[in-house]
Amino acid sequence: MAVSMLSTSEIRAALDARGSRQQELFAEARRLRDKHFARSIVLRGVIEVTNVCRVNCDYCPMRRDNTRYNDRYFMSSDEIVQRAREIHEAGIDVILLQGGEAPRVLAAVKEAIAAIKELYGGRVEVLLNLGSLTRDQYSELRQAGATSYILKHETSDAALHEQVRGETLESRLESLRDLLDLGYKVGTGFISDLPGQRIESIVDDIELAGRLGVHMCSVSPFAPAPDTPLADQPSGSLDLALNSIACLRICYPHLLIPSVSALEKADSGGQARGLEAGANVLTINFTAESDRQRYLIYGKNRFVVRMQHVQEIVRNAGLGIRGSIFLPDGAGRPA
Ligand code: SF4
Repeated sequence: MAVSMLSTSEIRAALDARGSRQQELFAEARRLRDKHFARSIVLRGVIEVTNVCRVNCDYCPMRRDNTRYNDRYFMSSDEIVQRAREIHEAGIDVILLQGGEAPRVLAAVKEAIAAIKELYGGRVEVLLNLGSLTRDQYSELRQAGATSYILKHETSDAALHEQVRGETLESRLESLRDLLDLGYKVGTGFISDLPGQRIESIVDDIELAGRLGVHMCSVSPFAPAPDTPLADQPSGSLDLALNSIACLRICYPHLLIPSVSALEKADSGGQARGLEAGANVLTINFTAESDRQRYLIYGKNRFVVRMQHVQEIVRNAGLGIRGSIFLPDGAGRPA
């Protein structure tokens, strides 16, 4: 892990940057991204495998307390593989299987991973985002062929973490350490402007990504979602999320940092600004329309990322598209 190029107080100051100071921050972040990733963006295709979750996060419409109101679904392995074929046809070699924390879906996921590997002749990164599982479950998924895993720590403020997620930060960190130990390429991530969060704790979030030694980290501005305890809270600032991205890039230039759909939801053009701030991953949604309507991660009016949108913002940023950086030869297949 590279040594942070910003001190704690410099990160704190950079989070407030606006105007020309913010432009300088972004320019340095882009310079480092382009140096480490040769002016290219990694493209992922996501399939949302279930909308059921046993956790009760205060900011999420798929929380446990909403399960009885939501139209629940679990994809079968055949359905997952069918969507994976579309990702393959689109020339994308990173398949993200994402869902609520619902171990019931794991059997289908395991079966699907084997079929996906076969479909790609082994040259595919299978990236999972399925929540906190036991070390044995992580190990089984790894043996089934999963390459990488996203488990966002969400907030490094231990008291706030427990308050909004009903689980301890330490248990989340333990899962992250298990994943790293099992040889996964690991992603964490955090929410900026989560109600009750202090700005100093965002500095901690950034530094925690470095301390953990993860390979990926995302930043999502808080988005108040309907039917959640935080529905009436104000939306997170796009500028703060972008400045956090830029700080991550400057501190840890080799990180994969997505420009997430929540940035676009915060403001039209938000994902393009994510690239301007140094992000280098975009994810296209391949979930079937019927399931996508039921996957309520930010409520019903979330921004769904499609190929055309991605091609447009990548082109406008003067960047190219590349494949996975985690496949054996590190070259990735151009999309
Ligand atoms: S944010 Fe994730 S873990 Fe929390 S309730 Fe939603 S789907 Fe479950």
